[in-house]
Parts: sequence; C-alpha cells; structure tokens
Amino acid sequence: MNLVLMGLPGAGKGTQAERIVEKYEIPHISTGDMFRAAIKGETELGLKAKSFMDQGALVPDEVTIGIVRERLGKNDCEKGFLLDGFPRTVAQAEALENILSDLDRKMDYVINIEVDKDILMERLTGRRICKQCGSTYHLVFNPPAAEGRCDKCGGELYQREDDNEETVANRLEVNLKQTQPLLNFYEEKGYLRNINGQQDINKVFADVNELLGGLGE
Ligand SMILES: [Zn+2]
Repeated sequence: MNLVLMGLPGAGKGTQAERIVEKYEIPHISTGDMFRAAIKGETELGLKAKSFMDQGALVPDEVTIGIVRERLGKNDCEKGFLLDGFPRTVAQAEALENILSDLDRKMDYVINIEVDKDILMERLTGRRICKQCGSTYHLVFNPPAAEGRCDKCGGELYQREDDNEETVANRLEVNLKQTQPLLNFYEEKGYLRNINGQQDINKVFADVNELLGGLGE
C-alpha cells in the first residue's frame, strides 16, 4: 500500500503513523529521516542537500525529489510505504506521481487527519513546563494537581513562547495555507480520504484501519 499521511500540527499524525507502519509493515518515510540517511550515506544527492543546508538555504526541489525517488526504489518499499512530510507543494505532488509511475506503482490513499482549528489550539497551547525540574504538563490532558505548580517539586509552571496562542495560531495559519492546494490536488485525483481526528486515538486508528483493510496486499 502506497500512502501519504497529512494533518496539521497537533492532529496526532505521529501516533497514527507509528501504528500504521507497525500493523502493515511498511516503512515510515519522513523527509527528515530521508535527508539524514542520504547525508550519512554520503550519496551524491545527500551531499548536494548538505551543501544547501550548511549554507542555511532551502534544499531545491530537484534534490529533494531525487532523494525521494531513491528512497522509494529501495527494497523495503516493496510492500509499500507511508510518506510523511512529503509532498509539501503541488509541484512535489506532481513529481511524486511521476516517480510512482516510473516505478510502475500507484498511490492508494492520501490520509488526512482532520481536526478543527479550535481543538488544535487547545492541544497545542496547553503545555506547561516546570521552571525547576523541567517536568511537562498539559492543562487538558495531563494537568498538575495544583494549578500552576509542579506535582513533583512544587516549582512554578510556565508556557514556552513556542506554545503561546499567537505563535501557535500563526503556525497553524501558515500550515493551512500551504496544505490546502495539496488537499485540492489529491481530492481531484481521487486519493484523498479524510479521517476524523477529533476522536479517541484508538478510534482514529480504527477508522484508518477500516480504510486500509480494504486494500489487501
Ligand atoms: Zn518540577
């Protein structure tokens, strides 16, 4: 099964990715891992990517796409793969279509874990960290016994700047803008499957499973 996994920050993509690759025994291919492996293996494309990253520059599409092409051609992808973090743009999605066609394969599904923006805000802004011992809490999912105080050491809890409302709202906005054209592209292709991410994690995976169960080998 050839899959792409999509979802905004906080949608629970990581958990679902772990479960999918474990159950269906396909590799989880994230952009970061792919770059690291190519650089470590000192492949031609890996070295090219590194030269851009060392300058703090964006890795050009042709290099990224080349690395994806090499990765999807490896033996462990025979049964399929779960792509995560690629494609990010319609141009990359089109390139991926070409790669798959060259490999004589076809995309099965683009799984999009959907969660309302308000709920994402709640999930992403709720984290609190202890100033003294660094323990982390979440106001909704893992609240401290006494408000604003660490259960372990009594230290004061604070919110990182990365987690504040304005920063999180901006991050979501940027992500939404980037993602929408890609979702439209996959919708038109008929690959897109939206999964309700506002349920219990197990129920989300049950829905994913129901979808993938229909694919067979
Ligand atoms: Zn503490």
